[in-house]
Amino acid sequence: MSDRLDLIIRHGSVVTPEGVSRADLAVAGGRIVQVAASITDSAAQEIDATGLHVFPGILDAHVHFNEPGRAEWEGLSTGSSSLAAGGGTWFCDMPLNSTPPVIDAARVAEKRKIAEQKSLVDFSIWGGLVPGNLDQLAGMRDAGVIGLKAFMCGSGIDEFPGVTDAATLREGMKCAAALGLLVAVHAEDEAMAQALTVAARGRGETDPRSWLATRPVAVELAAIRTATELAGETGCALHIVHVSSPDGIALISEAKRRGVNVTAETCPHYLLLNEDDVIRQGAVAKCTPPLRPELMRQGLWRALATGAIDTIGSDHSPAPPAMKTSADFFSIWGGISGAQHGFQLLISEAWNGGLPRDRSLPLLAALLADNVAKRFRLARKGRLAAGYDADFSLLDLNAPHVLKKADLLYRHVQGPYSGRECRVRVKRTVVRGRTVYSEGLIASGIPAGSFVPPTTLIP
Ligand SMILES: [Zn+2]
Repeated sequence: MSDRLDLIIRHGSVVTPEGVSRADLAVAGGRIVQVAASITDSAAQEIDATGLHVFPGILDAHVHFNEPGRAEWEGLSTGSSSLAAGGGTWFCDMPLNSTPPVIDAARVAEKRKIAEQKSLVDFSIWGGLVPGNLDQLAGMRDAGVIGLKAFMCGSGIDEFPGVTDAATLREGMKCAAALGLLVAVHAEDEAMAQALTVAARGRGETDPRSWLATRPVAVELAAIRTATELAGETGCALHIVHVSSPDGIALISEAKRRGVNVTAETCPHYLLLNEDDVIRQGAVAKCTPPLRPELMRQGLWRALATGAIDTIGSDHSPAPPAMKTSADFFSIWGGISGAQHGFQLLISEAWNGGLPRDRSLPLLAALLADNVAKRFRLARKGRLAAGYDADFSLLDLNAPHVLKKADLLYRHVQGPYSGRECRVRVKRTVVRGRTVYSEGLIASGIPAGSFVPPTTLIP
């Protein structure tokens, strides 16, 4: 047996949604072939993980790597490298920041081709649902998108208009449901946000606090209500991205109890930062929906602990520094860069007391990997078990250090976490048995990541 094993990770603490157990893990042909208390065979490469946790590769279903078209904002190479340095092994790229945006099958194929050359980790692709592209949805499904992304407010990108009226969203959901496609929505109510913005601008306001007041939690709740009602009526599978508030999660839980096929994503920044960071840090902490008051941040941790949140995505959404600089906070491009430091800080904070300690790692293994794989139908991803892709990271949970800007691998070295103390250090990241990141260094000369289409349609 020993001549067919490529890699054995020995003596690590293997994390699954069911618990943490001391085990060896064997890899052959890019797959996990055995997880057992002790593996007696030998392998071409053996790594002693004594004192380390073997954590499932983080599956980040929400990134904006902006390529093709706006590679100067981030790009697939730098974006995927930063993700790998943070323990990520797969991402799904959003459709809007590519030029042209991914709203038909040809654009899916184009992005796939570029990512197959440049991505360090495995990847999938979101298609876009915009007004007028219903006739393109079947083609995108056949090209292997994991779902369709729609904005219920303006997206900020003219070529990617929002589906801002309920009638158009309803038609889109009907069509998606018939095709077995999931719809993900950015849930903020356009009419309410616009009215508040116009009023604030009319008063000549330009400061961060005034901007925050244009996107109160009611803006998010109104959109979640609309989306969940339409999903219930149309039978469309719905995924609400970047939910920022515990009340938003509660609305989604209610819809689940009514039988609506809906899941909730939140992001590390809503759990790690609050609205004071917007005032204090400025542009690097601007995103929509915005960071919330401290009590809401704490409420989101409680929702997480009860299992009411399904997945966590980074919503890594960078822009060139020039677009993040203005005396007028309203005109600064929104989006937080967090793919590299967000997840490790989240694991660190959970371990520090955001969750009961014995439950934090299993719960995060579900939210960051297993649940993502299940929702987006990635059959071989998300679990440290025989038969799954050998995607994992080795984490040192007792390595207190200060997160530094200089360590960021983003195209633009910016983000809201620099200077924060983090207990967790990512020692190594492995994708399908190949080390892509180790001790601060990105591997070179290895094949690029693979495109992962969903294995089944939603029934
Ligand atoms: Zn996003």
